[in-house]
Amino acid sequence: MIDICEELHFAFFKLKRFYFPFEVSQIPLNGIYILFERGERAHGGDRIVRIGTHTGKNQLCSRLKQHFEMENKDRSIFRKNIGRALLNQNKDPFLKQWNWDLTTRKNKEIYGSLVDLGKLKRIEREVSRYIQNSFSFVVFAVQQKEKRLSFESKIISTVSQCAECYPSISWLGLSSPNPKIRNSSLWQVNEIYKKSLLETELIEIKQFLR
Ligand SMILES: [Zn+2]
Repeated sequence: MIDICEELHFAFFKLKRFYFPFEVSQIPLNGIYILFERGERAHGGDRIVRIGTHTGKNQLCSRLKQHFEMENKDRSIFRKNIGRALLNQNKDPFLKQWNWDLTTRKNKEIYGSLVDLGKLKRIEREVSRYIQNSFSFVVFAVQQKEKRLSFESKIISTVSQCAECYPSISWLGLSSPNPKIRNSSLWQVNEIYKKSLLETELIEIKQFLR
């Protein structure tokens, strides 16, 4: 797995790197994003810490904005997990409230009056600050949804099983309450340790990077 993961890293190192705030016009309408995190290194460069895509048509950019900008943890599992790690690191009991999903009407009725809205806002701000300052990414266009989901899953799987891709001692993910994040060294809970990329699929991905 190391060789394929290394080739993936090398291929992604060559792509244009985006930092917040990013130029929207340079993001393809449909595709996959690969996130790197400050301080995390592997294969002689930045370590891949998250792979993601979108299901809705032409939604790549809005997906990235849901992670980097929109202060609503219930619309981005990535934001939710960053917040969980930050709160858990500080042993902050607000973690319990942060886990409440306030998007459904039923949950709003149950938790709406209980949640500390001021604190929620402050943590959302902190999560934005962390994400905007610590993460950079590359993107590549993939039009077809099934293809995007298949590439996403296999890239996650490949990186999760790579022995060279391990976290620094200060990686925030090590403070995550979720063992899948701590153990995979990725901000991911699905598709880890599944079917990895075959050599032929790696070649196919490289054709999308041109
Ligand atoms: Zn690796």
